[in-house]
Amino acid sequence: MPFSHDMVYSLATVVDLINTSPEAGDRDGLADLADLEAFVRLRQVSGVAALTPRDLAEVVELRQAFHAVFTAPDRTTAISRLNTLLGRTRITPSLTEHDGFPLHVHYFAPGASVAEHLAADCGVALAHVLVEDEWERLRTCAAPDCSHVFVDESRNRSRVYCDSRTCGNRIHVAAYRARRRA
Ligand SMILES: [Zn+2]
Ligand SMILES: [Zn+2]
Repeated sequence: MPFSHDMVYSLATVVDLINTSPEAGDRDGLADLADLEAFVRLRQVSGVAALTPRDLAEVVELRQAFHAVFTAPDRTTAISRLNTLLGRTRITPSLTEHDGFPLHVHYFAPGASVAEHLAADCGVALAHVLVEDEWERLRTCAAPDCSHVFVDESRNRSRVYCDSRTCGNRIHVAAYRARRRA
């Protein structure tokens, strides 16, 4: 996939965002404002003003909308869910070279809240994935006790676990033990 740096970055951000949700397996990673502040810092969401409880509520709602795109049962549903999300997002493209990154496009509007910022930039990144007919790369981990989402960037679209170092290994070890017991 010829995805630019900022697209790859936005995709990683949306994956991280969705994986904070309790439905993705663990505790709620956005339980309070401190969690949201940590997320904004970690993902270097730029141009964000002081965060409020309203920001938290909006981001939690957005997280669910993005999750629904990842878990759509088919391509058509993924498209319509993403269109709904994009349709209620203000989007203003602008060229930028901030922080030493090569020239790239930001999509969030001036003065955007953190939820609007994430909806615009991550929404457009996901739109490109769909446009490239790569919808199937939006995956949920195949490990039975893990529901993390990920974007399969492997050449032959063969990745099934969210993180081969943890889930993949865990499953391989379990399968190995099961074979030895058999
Ligand atoms: Zn940027
Ligand atoms: Zn996993």
